[in-house]
Amino acid sequence: MSEDSENQRKRSWAEPYKIKMVEPVRMTTTGERKTRIKEAGFNTFLLRSRDVYIDLLTDSGTSAMSDRQWAGMMMGDEAYAGSENFYHLEQTIQKYYGYKYIVPTHQGRAAEHIISQLLIKQGDIIPGNMYFTTTKLHQELAGGTFKDVIIDEAHDPGNLYPFKGNIDLDRLRALIEQYGEKRIPYISVATTVNMAGGQPISLKNLKEVRNLTSHYGIPIIHDMTRVAENAYMIKKLEDGQAHRKVSEIVKEICDLTDGATMSAKKDALVNIGGFLAVNDKGLFDKARNMVVIYEGLHTYGGMAGRDMEALSIGISESVDEDHIRARVGQVEYLGKKLIQSEIPIVMPVGTHGVFLNAKKFLPHLTQDKLPAQALAAAIYVDSGVRAMERGVVSAGRDPDTGQQNYPNLELVRLTIPRRVYTQAHMDVVAESIEEVYLNRNKIRGLKFVYEPRYLRFFQSRFEEC
Ligand SMILES: *Cc1c(COP(=O)(O)O)cnc(C)c1O
Repeated sequence: MSEDSENQRKRSWAEPYKIKMVEPVRMTTTGERKTRIKEAGFNTFLLRSRDVYIDLLTDSGTSAMSDRQWAGMMMGDEAYAGSENFYHLEQTIQKYYGYKYIVPTHQGRAAEHIISQLLIKQGDIIPGNMYFTTTKLHQELAGGTFKDVIIDEAHDPGNLYPFKGNIDLDRLRALIEQYGEKRIPYISVATTVNMAGGQPISLKNLKEVRNLTSHYGIPIIHDMTRVAENAYMIKKLEDGQAHRKVSEIVKEICDLTDGATMSAKKDALVNIGGFLAVNDKGLFDKARNMVVIYEGLHTYGGMAGRDMEALSIGISESVDEDHIRARVGQVEYLGKKLIQSEIPIVMPVGTHGVFLNAKKFLPHLTQDKLPAQALAAAIYVDSGVRAMERGVVSAGRDPDTGQQNYPNLELVRLTIPRRVYTQAHMDVVAESIEEVYLNRNKIRGLKFVYEPRYLRFFQSRFEEC
């Protein structure tokens, strides 16, 4: 697909790869799926993969690796210390992201754990552009409190503002004035914002945040899980950015921040992996010491040598122009189909998935009846498509009062794995959602029958009510 043919807007585009190996998927009957979802306590996380037809639970660790990545797996240097693959990874991260020092971890939350323990003191405040489940939990476990400083538009699923990941500078300034910069160890900036529906932050906003935080001497820690997708949206939508390469924009984003946590299971196209990256040598020394307690030696941090090699190659592929355009394009394709059928979704369509607005989809269910959880279960029963809840169940309870959090956004996320499904799969998904929408009045609410203490959405069980 050349830029020329796309600009003509008359020609179809196809996935920029051909398929070399296939993994058969299993179709099930409606009767079977009704049994399975009941057994799973109406929680799609508790279904077995063999009972799922099209798996849109998450884009995390579900990417298809390229032939080059698989070739890299054969180059694994599994030495306990000083693996060649670590040095290649370090070089790759320095080249594409520009951070100086790297600590590998088994996935993103491990990097969040280390940075939170090192930087946060009891009573600290960490502002950020909307919470993410694991990020916020690690901040809390370290004694901090997360404060949301995302713009109001992000909480409104119908608002078409293109950069709903932006930070409200007045709100951020007010927080700094209220608590003082000494109680704010860093600002947490995510590219893109997962919980808002995969919404990007603009380069302009990030630069303004940088100026403001520099004034107070507060570092920015970048949750760079989907930085390539965010950079692509900047290229597509931000004034004066269209001519630039995605890789250049990625680098500029990283240069505007002081360190990063990465879940390599998303944009970086691997099934497992992550890292912490920082520019401060003192902080790096502490993180490198801490990683040996929780993850492994500082030259593998929970990854095999072959995993690190696949990750290095995945990072370079993640900023490839054809790849990123098709990746985000496929999500957009599904989003457009659902918009045409007047299904209520979060707008604009995000970069890694389409988010159904469960409050509008199921207006007969109040939020305490867990509409998004119920909708995800109903979609599975209809077609074997597995989605996940991003609403009141994911939001959990207030750690101080134990009260249920009721977020504005009550969503079901149809998350698209990278390079795994074709547009034909997207058609099947859209038809299933349309069918469920036609029969939406029959969907009943849910109540908790088991609720674990941490990250409850993963393991809770429910019954119809
Ligand atoms: C997935 C994710 C994380 C956590 O990473 P894991 O690899 O799942 O531990 C952190 N932040 C964001 C935005 C994510 O999407």
